[in-house]
Amino acid sequence: MTETQSKTSVTTAIQPDFATLPRRAEAGPGNLIGLPRDRMREALIETGVTEKQANMRVGQIWSWIYQRGVTEFDQMTTLAKGLRTDLAARFTIARPEIVTRQVSRDGTRKYLLRIAGGHEVEAVYIPEEDRGTLCVSSQVGCTLSCTFCHTGTQKLVRNLTPSEIVGQVMVARDDLGEWPVAGERPPEKRLLSNVVLMGMGEPLYNTDNVRDAMKIVMDGEGLSISRRRITLSTSGVVPEIPRAGAEIGTLLAISLHATTDEVRDTLVPINRKWPIAALMDACRAYPRLSNAERITFEYVMLKGVNDTDADAKRLVQLIAGIPAKINLIPFNPWPGAVHERSDWERIEAFAEIVNRAGYASPVRTPRGEDILAACGQLKSATERARKSRAQIATETGLGRC
Ligand code: SF4
Repeated sequence: MTETQSKTSVTTAIQPDFATLPRRAEAGPGNLIGLPRDRMREALIETGVTEKQANMRVGQIWSWIYQRGVTEFDQMTTLAKGLRTDLAARFTIARPEIVTRQVSRDGTRKYLLRIAGGHEVEAVYIPEEDRGTLCVSSQVGCTLSCTFCHTGTQKLVRNLTPSEIVGQVMVARDDLGEWPVAGERPPEKRLLSNVVLMGMGEPLYNTDNVRDAMKIVMDGEGLSISRRRITLSTSGVVPEIPRAGAEIGTLLAISLHATTDEVRDTLVPINRKWPIAALMDACRAYPRLSNAERITFEYVMLKGVNDTDADAKRLVQLIAGIPAKINLIPFNPWPGAVHERSDWERIEAFAEIVNRAGYASPVRTPRGEDILAACGQLKSATERARKSRAQIATETGLGRC
């Protein structure tokens, strides 16, 4: 495809170079976490459960796994002993393994998790007064190399499976002790109430697995987190946005970060393929947009790069007509970063212009900075240790700046 074609085509299918690596089949005994109901049903029938009983058994097992958080088949006391033994011989209920767990001074928890193949991803839990948000990863590494993002300096290894995505939520629930205790009424306010797909990776380069995982997270008999408490954040994979709206249906966030193609081409290189105008068209067409279901535009404040009054005014014009909120993110530095955080007065002046135009523009307080858990800082520890600053600079081209 030529550059001109790619810039004008909104509906072009994603080319293979953007489809990332193939999904890996999960090896060893099948993990029941992440399996859609129909696949779990088939798996049970293969184990010897009768067709007549299969639906009921799926319901029971779902409830044990996702509502009670059990980790052993033996704890599923509504199943006959023989069936529990058969299930344990064939399947697992395995979460990603916690390699490290760091707790920030502000209560943010960062989990480094090991998944199949020895790869590592991070998930971050951010407690706030009115909610508790888990930021989950969708890929190991990322292909997109956004220049303000630490994850982007780590090469893509593979897409996460639904099991590995759902597993991050379950690990956090385990750690927060948020599974109901028999005989006790569950607390009204959940510790883990919201999920954002803003961790490592681009969720819309792994749309099928993210969809299957979110279906389980949203399912009333699954992890039961409402669709409107989940936000999928994309850097702008324009052709996948309608599918995300139709097949997943969560709230949408866009990593915008610039108001001209010239600047965005540099900060978010995917913009060269799908520029701002195409991205805005896809946003305008996103289903169910309303004041209750606004699109969040994320905008990282970079000193001298994207933070002028003119940028703020252009931003307001770009999103005109879209029910939206602007999330201003003071840049979170990481080792080797070439950008600097905008001054606070600049951030405030920018926010003021956006606010006066009628858009909420909260400035996101950096969270978990002391454990490198803030936005754009995620990167697995082994990778971090392995690479020197110079290597990172060469890989990203930042050394040339
Ligand atoms: S901001 Fe998101 S899409 Fe860009 S490099 Fe980082 S993880 Fe990838």
